[in-house]
Amino acid sequence: MLKKGNKLYSILTGTCPKCHEESMYQDKNPYHLGNLFKMNERCSHCGTKYKIEPSFFYGAMYVSYGVGVAFAVAAFVIAFLFFKASLINTFIAIIVTMIVFMPFIIRVSRNIWINFFIKYDPQATTKVKS
Ligand SMILES: [Zn+2]
Repeated sequence: MLKKGNKLYSILTGTCPKCHEESMYQDKNPYHLGNLFKMNERCSHCGTKYKIEPSFFYGAMYVSYGVGVAFAVAAFVIAFLFFKASLINTFIAIIVTMIVFMPFIIRVSRNIWINFFIKYDPQATTKVKS
């Protein structure tokens, strides 16, 4: 279902947006908070430079607003509509959800952001090797 070549694959796994061969991050686990923002300079498979320009990933903050709101809405629906929680408990559930998923949201936002600018290229890997 989720295969290489699909933008969602790169977004969800944090792999290089061009060749989908390797992780952009030095540490794949976003919950190792000390390494949350540590990214490789470029892809060792296709040579894509991740930081297209200085402070490129500041733009990912705009994406993270949207992703954050999506998570908040999901938390609201689950707590309030499915579990019939009170408004106060629903509010707490939203806050907890936001905190728990924050590292994930930050990473996914970066992945979405870079995928706006760089397209998948199935030939990217072979190009460098030849
Ligand atoms: Zn690559």
